[in-house]
Amino acid sequence: MMCYALGALEAFEDLYDINGIEMTIFQLHRENVSTSTISKDELLTWATEVLMPTAALAYEGKGEFKAGDHCQFCKVKATCRKRTETNLELAKYDFEMPATLSLTPNTGTASIKSNYSDENSYS
Ligand code: SF4
Repeated sequence: MMCYALGALEAFEDLYDINGIEMTIFQLHRENVSTSTISKDELLTWATEVLMPTAALAYEGKGEFKAGDHCQFCKVKATCRKRTETNLELAKYDFEMPATLSLTPNTGTASIKSNYSDENSYS
């Protein structure tokens, strides 16, 4: 959105006295409309201090991949190594060994309790 705001600023700042930009997203399928506002100075500072250095790194093939919620919009998410590594790291918690084992008195079976399921029993 901030890149679009920069484009709008570039296109219209000669015509209007712009001090701030209001950015609105319409997501009709989610029945969501969200708006945020940024001052012209904040936007230009972000462009100079964040966008330009990051874009320069990406152009050179450098920089770091950063997986997150934003990946849902990425065209290469199905083949992205960083996203896969992040998801595999999260999946480890599903297979984490429990901190304690307890025996069920009547059956002599060991109960393993994990954080992510009610109870798994092994005999
Ligand atoms: S899927 Fe990979 S390349 Fe795409 S935004 Fe996520 S981390 Fe970046």
